[in-house]
This record gives sequence, structure tokens and C-alpha cells, in this order.
Amino acid sequence: MQKVKVRYGPSPTGIPHIGNIRTALFNFLFAKSQNGEFFLRIEDTDQARIVPGAVEKIKDSLKSLNLEWDADIVYQSERLDIYQKYLNDLKSKDLAYNDEGAWRFKIQTDKKSVGWQDVVHGKVEFPTNVIEDFIIIKSDGFPTYHFASVVDDHELEISHVMRGDEWISSTPKHILLYEALGWEHPQFVHLPPILGADHKKLSKREGAKSVLEYIDEGYLPEAITNFLALLGWSPKGNQEIFSLDDLIKEFSLDRINKNSPIFNIEKLNWTNGQWIRKLTNDDLSNRLSIYNPKYDQKILKDVTPLIKDRINNLKDIKIADLFFKAPDPKDFKLTISEDILLKLIKNFESVKTWSTDNIKESANSLLGPNLEKKDLYQNLGLSLSGSTVTPPLFDSMENLGKDETIKRLKAAIKSQ
Ligand code: GLU
Repeated sequence: MQKVKVRYGPSPTGIPHIGNIRTALFNFLFAKSQNGEFFLRIEDTDQARIVPGAVEKIKDSLKSLNLEWDADIVYQSERLDIYQKYLNDLKSKDLAYNDEGAWRFKIQTDKKSVGWQDVVHGKVEFPTNVIEDFIIIKSDGFPTYHFASVVDDHELEISHVMRGDEWISSTPKHILLYEALGWEHPQFVHLPPILGADHKKLSKREGAKSVLEYIDEGYLPEAITNFLALLGWSPKGNQEIFSLDDLIKEFSLDRINKNSPIFNIEKLNWTNGQWIRKLTNDDLSNRLSIYNPKYDQKILKDVTPLIKDRINNLKDIKIADLFFKAPDPKDFKLTISEDILLKLIKNFESVKTWSTDNIKESANSLLGPNLEKKDLYQNLGLSLSGSTVTPPLFDSMENLGKDETIKRLKAAIKSQ
């Protein structure tokens, strides 16, 4: 069987957005699942559209998700003599002609249609008469996308061309070129595009950002990879959390969906939360400190286990605020009596070893017909943090220490 070789062929016209990187991911996963090779090919033949720095961003995006490519990067702009060689081949067959300095490919009219068996879409066919003689080498000497793509896919022995659906209409041209050059064409795997919640092309506002932006915003590379893999590919079972290695083991072309996946930011947030909980405390605290450099790093490390279950993003750690500053009592209103709070303080004052269990026991001893657990805990949370959403209450109090806890309770009483 032919060795699986695939390529990701971005044009360096900007920073690739996540839809583009999903194409790279699927190529990578397929290659790795088949012990094949994954090439990175920079399609820089349209000189006018090249954006300086874009190649670096493409490389950074792939590296950020650990999608390492095999072999050296192929730059099409460095291969002009190769395209020239195949142009000569076409010329010698009388299949190319000069048009104001550019070279066009002559479409043979003896065939009615051009088609292929697409791995995702099944049989696809176009009538030949809709295809005009198209330019293969421009007057600046650079090949067009069509010609460079076909020549390089042949030269790199690409077994599967996996790319976005928007290239389906180019594929008949490519097939005609393969035939004219006497080559077999690779398999084609056209991926349906990711759509926004409005079922339209994914806009920037809906999520069409780069993976580098997502990483900056506090998303874990592991979560982004996991999320992207499930946009257009479905695993066999119900598992939803996959590492890159898991994905390599599971990935198969026959589970790529024909329908467009919908980008769902809530799903990404959820996946991110799941990945946060999978990290060791040390790993998480290291990542949190990179994202939150202004916070006291010692405290951040100490409270990492307390916030781990309650954050979904490395940058959004508002829930940890209570460990860094006392709330302003003017910002909240307590709903239990001063009398109870005073008793609470008294109880706490007599706790000898300030541990989670002891604190909890001492607080719970006040519970009874006139004081429900929910009310007590909510008011404690408010007094300590100014919010009813807190990390686990008694662990947080242990972490804050006896003096600080009592100080905050007193301040809360005073302001009521
Ligand atoms: N350069 C094309 C792009 O930017 C690649 C198309 C292909 O993979 O054939 O999407």
C-alpha cells in the first residue's frame, strides 16, 4: 500500500484562523494515525498577497498545538525551475500556450466530464465545458495555485489531499492537469467548513480567530486541539475528552462528517475547564502564573487546588480574588442577624487548630431551626469575598487564616 503522505498548504497571507488550523490538525492526525508523513508547504506564489511575518505565525500556530511537521518546509517560491520543467512538458505535448506573457493550460474537449470519488463527499463530477483554459504560469514567472499545487503534490508523493471544501471547484482543473502530465491523482478529502452559530461562514466575531489568540485568551492548547478535532470528525463512542495521542489512535477518515460543524464557544469553554481539571496542581499553577503575572505568585500557587474545579479559563480567575484582597463590605448585604455573626466569631475564636474540618464543625454547630446551612454558608461567603460564588468555603477560610477570617467577619457586621 502507498505510504500516507499529506500536506498542509497555507498561503502566507495572514495569520491562519482556527478553521485553517483544523485542516492542518486533520492532516496531522491522519498522517500520524497511519504512520505516514505530514508536510508543511508554504504556498507563496502570489507575491502580491504575501504578508510579512505570516510564515512565522503559521509555524507558531502549528507548534503551539504540537503539530510538528516532517521534513523541511517546502516553499513554492523556491521551486520555480521545477514548475518550468513541467510547463515544458505540457508545451511539448501542445497542451500549453502563451497568452500575453502568461501560460495557459489547454483544456481537452474530448471528455464530457471530470470527476473523482471524494473521501468525504463521494462521487463529484463537473462538466468539462465549464472549465476554461486557465493560467498555469503567470507573466511574472510564478505558477498559479492550480499548477504549483498539482506539481508539488505529485513531487511530494502526496497520497491524500485534505483541504477545505472551497477548493472543490478547483479540483477538476487539477485532475485535468494530472492527466495531461501522465500522473495519477491523489485521493481528495474535502472538509466542510466550520460555520458560526448563525450557520453562516464563521466570522471573526463568531470565533474565527487564530489559535494564538485563543491561547492568549487563556485557552489550553490541549483543549483547543480537542475542541477542533471534534469539529467535523466524530469518535466511535461517547468520549469527549481526547489528548493529541488519543486522537491519533482514534482518527479515521470515514468518521469525517459531510455536514458543516457549528462553532460553539460554550463547548470550547467546557472543554477548557475539563482540561484544567486534568492538569496536575503544579502544572496548572505554573500556567496560571504565566497568565496572571500581577498576582502574588506564592498565594496563587497555594490556592491553585482550591480554584481548579471552578475555573474554565487560565486568565479568568476572578473567583480567587478573595485570596488577594478583602472585599469592600459596602458592596454586599448580609441576610442573617448580627447576633448569629457574633456567635460565629466567638466560635471561630475558640478553634485551636485552624483546619478545614475544625472550622466547618465550629460553624455548623450554629445550625438549627433558626439557621439553615444555605443561609449560613452564603453569608459567610459574602463576608469573605463579597460574592456568593466562592472556592470551597472552609478550605478558603483555612487558607486565609484565622485572623483574616475573623477580621472580615467583623468588618461585614460593622457595615450592616
Ligand atoms: N494555499 C491554499 C490555502 O491557502 C491551500 C489549498 C490546498 O490545500 O490545496 O488554503
